[in-house]
Amino acid sequence: MFTGVNCPKTVGKHCEGFPGPMVRKIIEENNIFIELKRRGKKIKFADAYLVDSPEELEFRRFKSVTTVMALTTPETISTADDLTGDRALMQDLTRETIQDRYPDIPVIPPQHAAEHLFRIARENDFTLFEFFQSDVAGHSMDYNRACAVLRTYDRFLAALIRFTEAAGITVVLTADHGNIEAMNERGHTRNPVPFVSFGPQAAAIRNRVESLVDVTPAVLAAFDGTLDLNEKKGLKK
Ligand SMILES: [Zn+2]
Repeated sequence: MFTGVNCPKTVGKHCEGFPGPMVRKIIEENNIFIELKRRGKKIKFADAYLVDSPEELEFRRFKSVTTVMALTTPETISTADDLTGDRALMQDLTRETIQDRYPDIPVIPPQHAAEHLFRIARENDFTLFEFFQSDVAGHSMDYNRACAVLRTYDRFLAALIRFTEAAGITVVLTADHGNIEAMNERGHTRNPVPFVSFGPQAAAIRNRVESLVDVTPAVLAAFDGTLDLNEKKGLKK
């Protein structure tokens, strides 16, 4: 999704969210952050890491795809200070999952998280937000928990899209695998994932995307002004 490279095909096996050395190398060589930086764009990874500085992240033993990517462009990283100053989001939106460790950071409604993300998006050319509580809920096989996560996410999205549509910001929404849609299974699913977009470039980006490896090239094309704006979905094939 973030490199445009088909990693399982290149590496010869299924790739997990915490990449091994081969996939790490692919991400470190090139990714959407590096490409946008090369174009002089201002980028932010809006998920806060509860660290004082990006350097602290280097010492983490397990790094997710997005952490490996963000470390290639450390200025994109949001820290604990950014979270408490509402310049970043907690990955769960409401900050509920960190209450045991950080009782001083207040819980916020998902609509406020949307407001924060909108503010960050307005100040940057490209903003990434990663939400994975839907995956965590899917693994739990707890139906009520899944419903609660989806309700929170829905409130967040409704508010976010209201803000971004008014401001003319393009939003792209996708996932790298399913899970929560099959609560009778503990693991990830092989179902196709949705690709949803809103805003001025939404249709043109959507037309360019047929699989995960198309996401990065489509977003870069939007920045390069090389998307075909007149192309209508469905008429192409
Ligand atoms: Zn998972």
